Amino acid sequence: MTKPPKACPGSATKVFPLQRRLRYWQKILRLKDWTITVEWSPSLVEDEGQNEIVEENRESTIYLDSALKKSHRRADVALVHELLHIPFEFARDGDGVSVTDVLLEQGIQQVALGMVEIEWRTK
Ligand SMILES: [Zn+2]
Repeated sequence: MTKPPKACPGSATKVFPLQRRLRYWQKILRLKDWTITVEWSPSLVEDEGQNEIVEENRESTIYLDSALKKSHRRADVALVHELLHIPFEFARDGDGVSVTDVLLEQGIQQVALGMVEIEWRTK
């Protein structure tokens, strides 16, 4: 038997509070000096999220798969994952997917999962 999923931290609403969670994680991850926007996207086929980063302007635009609205926890992980791309971006190679890119992706996902695990455990 599986436990029912926990409610989204600090919220009794059914809608994932995307903008509030962005502000929350932006603070936790020390990214408050970045201009970050986030929106749902109905058209992300393979990825749960995407992040378009313009390092020189400290700007980032994050798109999360609208299917994640149904799972607040998965939405939180995807949001944290995309935000973590910002501090890790310097380690990326040029164009194309390399071993470094794959390892970087896995590392980011591990940190995102761990952070959300701690966050949801303490509420
Ligand atoms: Zn990623």
